[in-house]
Amino acid sequence: MHYFSTNRRSPHVSFREATLQGQPADRGLYCPVEIPKFSQEFLSDLKRYSNAEIAFQVIRPFVGDSIPDEMLIDICSETVDFPFPLVKLNEQISALELFHGPTLAFKDVGARFMSRCLRYFSDDSGRKTIVIVATSGDTGGAVANGFHGVEGVEVVILYPKGRVSKVQEAQLATLGGNVTAVAVRGSFDDCQSLAKDAIADADLQKRVFATSANSINVARWLPQQFYYLFAMKQWNGGPPVISVPSGNFGNICSGILAHLSGMPVSFFIAACNANDVVPQFMLTGELRPKSSITTLSNAMDVGNPSNFVRILELFGHSFSALKERMTAVSMSDTETAETIRNVYGSTGYILDPHGAVGYRALAQYLDSNAGRSGFFLATAHPVKFDSVGIIIDEEVEISETVRELFKRPMQSIEIDADYPDLKELILSKV
Ligand SMILES: *Cc1c(COP(=O)(O)O)cnc(C)c1O
Repeated sequence: MHYFSTNRRSPHVSFREATLQGQPADRGLYCPVEIPKFSQEFLSDLKRYSNAEIAFQVIRPFVGDSIPDEMLIDICSETVDFPFPLVKLNEQISALELFHGPTLAFKDVGARFMSRCLRYFSDDSGRKTIVIVATSGDTGGAVANGFHGVEGVEVVILYPKGRVSKVQEAQLATLGGNVTAVAVRGSFDDCQSLAKDAIADADLQKRVFATSANSINVARWLPQQFYYLFAMKQWNGGPPVISVPSGNFGNICSGILAHLSGMPVSFFIAACNANDVVPQFMLTGELRPKSSITTLSNAMDVGNPSNFVRILELFGHSFSALKERMTAVSMSDTETAETIRNVYGSTGYILDPHGAVGYRALAQYLDSNAGRSGFFLATAHPVKFDSVGIIIDEEVEISETVRELFKRPMQSIEIDADYPDLKELILSKV
């Protein structure tokens, strides 16, 4: 498989090159030149495959000959060695729980897959590999955990100071070793643009191999298809409506990719918080990035969703083709809190703020589209968010892993949202 840049000024590259570079020099995003098709037999026999086998079948055409099959099988089984249950909440709505990995959010899947690919690729590269990642909350912990202790790789995590939860900060800032946590005095968008500056800095690239572990990296983006198929393995009934809590739009984009490869889906809902750039786009056809607004679902506080351009590519930039397959809605914090409270009251199920946005968007859609059913992605465990306990007025049980985290000292460095400062810090790591 080859990858082209959405800005079309950089050459096509292999999976290996796309993973190592993160972003093409023309600052577009890499997309696969073709969409592989699942065989009918694979789709109808999903129940016969283990999760690791499904992952391998899904990712193999995208990886091509960049990684030998035996190695790729190992990478897949390490990546998905925890459960992905589809939990029925009522007749119409199920939750696809993606929070049973080491850092309690779906980003573990992409981060684990990518770190293992990079370990394989960096064996033969000589130059020091620096992974730079901007996080609005959950990416940082997942990437820190996925890469911690990986030889030959330094990790720099940029997060907006004071805007991530206690658990999230502990997950990314207490590991130390090859993981450096940087608290940026600014927003997530500032962090993201600092990361992009670093990757695009030719002078820096001469000295180190700087790459990104954000969802723009194909090795993080593409494995997110896996759990849509794990859900289908557990799904009974016609094609589901799938609601995806969305911020940077990598997760929903991977679901759409799996659908275009043949996975039956009735409709996609991009469930957003008050950061409503895409919901506005779906109304007007105009994409107008804004500054991000802080909300309860902080991992979705994105004002300029980078992966959305990939969705447009998948639909050949046809607005009408996109509207047939997907809608996008925006929820306020009041609605999010109300949903957490109501669902807890009526079923005892504790939603996290991101899952709550997904749940409500799905419930609203099903209300006006009778006879359908579906699932939303429960993208993180409620314990990660300090707000949930306050909303349900009850302590959310803290797991052993979280208790251990809080015992470790925080080790983060504070900087202004200023690229030269970041560059100096990166160079001090080599
Ligand atoms: C990152 C994240 C999202 C948003 O995912 P995108 O791929 O950026 O759209 C939603 N929920 C949680 C819990 C997250 O960590």
